[in-house]
Amino acid sequence: MLELPYPVQLQQKQRQVEKLLKPYCRTEKILGMEDPFHYRNKVHAVFGHRKDGTIISGTYQEKTHFIVPVEECLIEDPKADAIIRDIRGLLKSFRIKTYNEDTGYGLFRHALVRTGYHSGQVMVVLVLGSPILPSKNHFVKALRELHPEITTIILNVNDQKTSMILGEREIVLYGKGYIEDTLCGLTFRISSKSFYQVNPVQTERLYGKAIELAGLTGRERVIDAYCGIGTIGLIASRSAGEVIGVELNPDAVRDAVFNARRNEIKNARIFRGDAGEFMTQMAAQGERADVVFMDPPRSGSDEAFLSSVVMLGPAKIVYVSCNPETLARDLGYLTKHGYTARTAVPVDMFPQTKSVECVVCLHRKEREK
Ligand code: SAH
Repeated sequence: MLELPYPVQLQQKQRQVEKLLKPYCRTEKILGMEDPFHYRNKVHAVFGHRKDGTIISGTYQEKTHFIVPVEECLIEDPKADAIIRDIRGLLKSFRIKTYNEDTGYGLFRHALVRTGYHSGQVMVVLVLGSPILPSKNHFVKALRELHPEITTIILNVNDQKTSMILGEREIVLYGKGYIEDTLCGLTFRISSKSFYQVNPVQTERLYGKAIELAGLTGRERVIDAYCGIGTIGLIASRSAGEVIGVELNPDAVRDAVFNARRNEIKNARIFRGDAGEFMTQMAAQGERADVVFMDPPRSGSDEAFLSSVVMLGPAKIVYVSCNPETLARDLGYLTKHGYTARTAVPVDMFPQTKSVECVVCLHRKEREK
C-alpha cells in the first residue's frame, strides 16, 4: 500500500468497508491519521544468517519462512528498530548463533520490542531456542548501555518447531517484566504475551468511538468480551454501573486484574474463560447485561459466541473488529437474530497496510419501537 498516497489509501479502505457492510448499515467517514508513519509500538524481528554467516534480522516473506532483512521500517517505532539493529551487533560480538528453523540448530530466534507511547517505557523480549544465554549478564549490560531507555528485558524460551513467536517459559533478566502505558487517561500494564493494540494514537480514537456509540449513562451493566488487558472495559467503567471482563489468555487476565486495581476501579471484575461459554452460563443463570463490547481476533467470532450474545440479549452490542470480512459475516448472523446495525465507523489503525479496523453499534430490535 506504501506506493499509494495516504488519502488514496483511506479512500480504498472506506470503499472496502462500505461495500462489505452495505447490506447492514451505513458507514461513516474513516478516521485517518495525521502522521501515518512510525506508529507501530510493537516490532518483531526474526533472526537468521546468510550462507556466509552474516547475521540478518527482519520479517518473514509473506507465506514463507524466508527472512527479508529489515534495517528500519516506515511504520515502526524507530527506537525499536535501532534496538533490533544493535541486538544483531551484540550477537556478533558475543558469538551467539542464530537459530535455524530447518535444522533446529542455533540459539537466537526472535526479538520483540514494545514501547509505551506516553510512558516511554521499553520492553525487549529475546526469544531463544533454549533457556541458556551465554554471558547473560554481560549481554544485558551491553544492551542497556547502548539503550538506557530499555526498562525491562525478558528471555523467552521457544524450543518448539512452530510458527508462533513466543514460547511458554519466560525469565525476567532486567526490570519488572512488563511495561506500562496510558490510554484514555488510565494506566495499563502490558506483559509480553498479552495483546495490546499496535497503534496507540488511533486506539484512543477507536475506543473513544466505541464507548461513545455505547451511549453509557452510568447505570449499565457492561460486558467486555475478549477483554485482553482490560482496556475497553476499564475505560468504559467510568461511565457504567458495572463492568465484567472475560478473556482466555491467563497473562492478559492477570494484567487486566492488576489494571483494575492500579486505576482504583471498583466496579469491574475480570474472569478467565471462553467469552461465549461465559455468556451462555450467564444467560442460563438468568443474569442480564445492557451492553456487550466485543473485540475478537482477526478470525472473528463464532456461532457459539454469537448465539450466546443473542441469548443474553443486551440492548446494545458494540463490535470492534480488525477484519471487515469476518465482521460482515458476524453482522449477517446478528441481524438475523434480533439486532439491527446502525453505524459503522472505520478507523485506520494500520496505515500503509491493507488492514482496516471498524467499530459497529448494534441495537436490539424490540427496543427500537
Ligand atoms: N479488547 C482488547 C483485546 C482484543 S484482542 C484490547 O483492545 O486490547 C482479542 C483478545 O481475545 C485477545 O486478548 C485473545 O487472547 C482473546 N480471546 C481469543 N479467543 C477468546 C475466547 N474464545 N474467549 C475469550 N477471549 C478470547
